[in-house]
Amino acid sequence: MAPQAEFTGLIGIDLGTTFSCVARLSREGVPQTIPNREGELITPSVIVLEDDIAVVGREAKRSECVYPEHTAVCVKRDMGGMRYSRSIAGKIYRPEILSAMILKRIKTDVEARFGPVKHAVITVPAYFDDTRRKATQDAGRIAGLSVLDIINEPTAAALAYAFETHRRRNEHPGSFATGPTGEPTTALVYDLGGGTFDVSIVRISRDRFETLATDGDVRLGGRDWDERLVNFFAEEFQRKYGSDPRDDPQSLAFLYQEAEHVKHALSARATTRALVTHNAQRLSFEVTRARFDELTADLLARTETTTEAVVENAGLTWAQIDRVLLVGGMTRVPQVREMIRRLSGKEPDCSLSADEVVAHGAALHGGILLARMGAEGQSISDSALGLWIGFESIDVNSHSLGIAVRTPQGYANSILIPKNTPLPAERSRTYHTSSPNQRQVRVRVLEGEAHEADACVQIGEFVLAGLPANLPERTPIEIVCRYGADGRISVEGRDPATGLLAETSLVSQGRLDDAELREEARKIGTMEIV
Ligand code: AMP
Repeated sequence: MAPQAEFTGLIGIDLGTTFSCVARLSREGVPQTIPNREGELITPSVIVLEDDIAVVGREAKRSECVYPEHTAVCVKRDMGGMRYSRSIAGKIYRPEILSAMILKRIKTDVEARFGPVKHAVITVPAYFDDTRRKATQDAGRIAGLSVLDIINEPTAAALAYAFETHRRRNEHPGSFATGPTGEPTTALVYDLGGGTFDVSIVRISRDRFETLATDGDVRLGGRDWDERLVNFFAEEFQRKYGSDPRDDPQSLAFLYQEAEHVKHALSARATTRALVTHNAQRLSFEVTRARFDELTADLLARTETTTEAVVENAGLTWAQIDRVLLVGGMTRVPQVREMIRRLSGKEPDCSLSADEVVAHGAALHGGILLARMGAEGQSISDSALGLWIGFESIDVNSHSLGIAVRTPQGYANSILIPKNTPLPAERSRTYHTSSPNQRQVRVRVLEGEAHEADACVQIGEFVLAGLPANLPERTPIEIVCRYGADGRISVEGRDPATGLLAETSLVSQGRLDDAELREEARKIGTMEIV
C-alpha cells in the first residue's frame, strides 16, 4: 500500500500480554487505531520462531497448537527477567528480544501504510517496576523505535476517555473532559488485561491530569482465568479417559485456545460447549457461566481487594469517584462488571473499545509531549497542539523506592520515596561510612514496601567510588534518589563535606548495556519478521 499523507510519524503502542494495538493521531489530533497487515485492529502478541524467521500475530497464534515448542506466548509476564520462561526451538531468549520482534512487526506494518515512524510511546502496566520498564524501553530500541516515552496503561486509558468525552460533547477536539459544569472529574480505572491487572485513580481537569494512587498485580490477568478452565477441562477428560491432555504440549496448547473461546462465549451467553481432543480421543461437554464464575471467584476477589485498597490509599470514598472506567479485554466478563457495580454502586463506563483505548491514550500522550517540545514539522493542526502545550500530566510511582541499611536485625528497607508520590520526585538522605579511610560505598537500591530488604526487589547496586583518602569513620554521605516522570529510577551519591559528586554507577545484574542493545538491534534488523 502506498504511504499515506499526514502521518505525524508518531505512534502509541499498547504492548499487551496477549494482544497488542497501535494508534496514530489524525491531523485534528484524534487517535485512530492502525490496522495490521491482515486488516485487524489488534495483533496477537505471539511469536513462532524458525530458522531466523519470526512469525508474529494471528498466524503465530494459530501455529501455537501445531508447533508449541517453537512458540512464545505471554512474553510480557517475563519482562525484566533474564530469560523467557522456556526455550524456543531449543534456544534461550531474553523477553525484551521477543518483545522487540512484536514491536518490529508492528512498526513494519505501520510503515508500509503510512511511511517512517519517528517516535513511539509504549505503554506499561502501572505496577511494572523499574526493571520491567527498562526492559520495555530496551525492546523498543532493539526494534529500531525512538521511544519518546513509556506511560502507564491506566493513565493512557483515562487520557483517551477524557479526550473522547469532550469530543462527543462537540467541544474542541483537542481538549480534555471535566465534569458537566467544568469542574475536575475523578475517575477510577480498572484495567484487567490478558496478563496484568492495574487499578488507578486519576483526577482530570481542563489543563491537568493527575494520578492520585495506583496499585496492581503484574501476574494476574485473562491467562489465569484461562488456566482455571484448562485445568477443569483436563480433569473432565482424565475422569473419562484416564490420560491427562496437559502432559502433551500440543494438547495443552489446544486446551488453552479452547479455554479462551469458551471464556469469550460465556461473556455473551450463559452456557456453551467445550471440546477437548487428546490421543485421538474427543470429549465434548457443557460449561456454564456459573461454573466458570465459581472456578475463578478467588481471582476476581484479588482484584476486588486491590481496588478497595487503591480507593483508600487515594484518601477517597466511592461517593467521591465520579466515573469508573473499564479497560482491558477481561472487563467484558459479566462477573467482572457485576463486581465493579456492586463495589462502586455505579454503572461502569465501557463506551470505548477495551482493546484500543490504551493505544489511543499512548498516541495522545505522544501528541502532548510533541506539543511541549514545539513539534515543528509534525502534521498535527496548530489548534490541537496549542491546546496541548500547557497540558500537565502527573503520575505516581507504584512501588516505594528505598535503600538497604544495616540494622542489628539484618538489612532493612529504608524508604526514600514512598509509593504514590507524584512524579518526578527526588529525595535525599544522609548515611555514614562504616570504617576509617573508606574509599567507596556500596548501596543496594530497592523497590517494594516490605521492611526487610530481602523481601523487596533489588533493582541495582550503586557504587559510590572515589571518596577522598583518610575520611574518618561515620563520614556523612548524601544519597539522592530520583523517580522520573516515566517511572524510571536514577540514584546519585554526594560527599556533603566537599559538595563533590562522587563517581557513581547503578549496576544491575542482567540488564543490557548500550553496546549489547546496539548489537541486538542489529540482529533484529537483519531478521525476517513477518
Ligand atoms: P487485553 O490485554 O486488554 O488485550 O485483554 C486480553 C484478554 O481479554 C485476554 O485474556 C482475552 O481472552 C480477554 N478477552 C477479550 N475479549 C473477551 C471477551 N469477549 N470475553 C472474555 N474475555 C475476553
